[in-house]
Amino acid sequence: MVVILKNHADKDKVENLTNWLQSQKLMINEVKGEYQTILGLIGDTSRVDIDLIQSLDIVEDVKRISEPYKCANRNFHPDDTVIDVEGYKIGGGNFQFFAGPCSVESREQIIGIAKEVKAAGANILRGGAFKPRTSPYAFQGMRAEGLELLLEAKKATGMPIVTEIMDASHIPLFENVDIIQVGARNMQNFELLKELGHLDKPIFLKRGLSSTLQELLMSAEYIMAGGNEKVILCERGIRTFETATRNTLDISAVPLLKEKSHLPVVVDPSHASGIARLVEPMAYAAAACGADGLMIEVHNDPAKALCDGPQALTPPQFAKVVKGVENIRNHIK
Ligand code: PEP
Ligand code: MN
Repeated sequence: MVVILKNHADKDKVENLTNWLQSQKLMINEVKGEYQTILGLIGDTSRVDIDLIQSLDIVEDVKRISEPYKCANRNFHPDDTVIDVEGYKIGGGNFQFFAGPCSVESREQIIGIAKEVKAAGANILRGGAFKPRTSPYAFQGMRAEGLELLLEAKKATGMPIVTEIMDASHIPLFENVDIIQVGARNMQNFELLKELGHLDKPIFLKRGLSSTLQELLMSAEYIMAGGNEKVILCERGIRTFETATRNTLDISAVPLLKEKSHLPVVVDPSHASGIARLVEPMAYAAAACGADGLMIEVHNDPAKALCDGPQALTPPQFAKVVKGVENIRNHIK
C-alpha cells in the first residue's frame, strides 16, 4: 500500500501516522520528493483501513497494491484448489455438473429428477429446501423436510447433494449435506459466512446480485479466514440495465476469478439468464472460458415447477448440454 502525503503535511501528524502504522506491524519506507512525500507500507496490509487513512487531512491519496484478501489470493497459493466431494473433484482441471430442480417439491420429484440427471451425466444433485423468494407469499421450499428428501435422493442415486442455507441457526440441519450453498442474497451475510468458516464442509458461494468480484472474493475470505478453505465460487449473473434476461451473465468473471484466486469457479447459466433456451449457449460459453463446472436447473415438468420453471431444462435438454460441454472441453484441451 502506498500513502501519498499532502504537500507541506504537518510533521507531527505524519509522525503520528507512521507510529500508528508501525504499531500494526508494518514497515514504512519513506520516499521524500521535492514536492511530495510517499510512504510505502510493507507487510500484511489486509487489515489496514484504507478509508480511514484516506480521510486524514495530511493524506492526498492511498493506493492499494496488493489485494485485501489473502486466503483466497492466488499470489499466496499458486496451485488450483481441488475440492473432493465423495470422490468427485472440483477444480484443478476437473469439471463437474451440479444439476437438479430449483426446489425440492416431493419425494417422487426429487428422486425422479436425480436419477435422470445422473443418467445424463450430472455428478452432484442440487435442490433447494430453504428458498429465498422475493415474495413472502411464494413457495418457500419444503425446508427441513426437503433436506430429508434430498438425503433420500442421495441414497437412491449415490449423488452428493448441494443445497442452500439461509440462516446460521439451521447449520445442524445441514450435517449430512455434502456442499452447503450460500445464495446470491446471502453473499454478504457476514455472520453466516463466519459460522460456515468453522465447518469442515465445502461451501458453494454464489455471487451477489450487485456484487463486484472483489466483494465475492472478500466473502470467500470470510469463510476461509475461519479455517474452512473449501470454497467454490459461482458466477450466476448480475443486475444490469438489461431487462431481456433475468440477470446478465458476467462471463469475464470466470477467467478473472481464476486469475485472482485459486478457488474453483462454477457458472450457473440458469439464474444468469432466466430463460431455458439460453442455458445451452451460456453453458458452452462458460466451458469455453475455463469454468470448473456448471450448475443447471433441471425439472421433469418445467411448466408446473413451483419455482424457476421458465429457466429449467428438461432432462433430455440437460443431456444435450452435457454432451456439448464435453465436446467443447475436448476441443480446448
Ligand atoms: C438457487 O440456486 O436456486 C438460487 C436461489 O440461486 P441464487 O442465489 O443465485 O439466486
Ligand atoms: Mn432457482
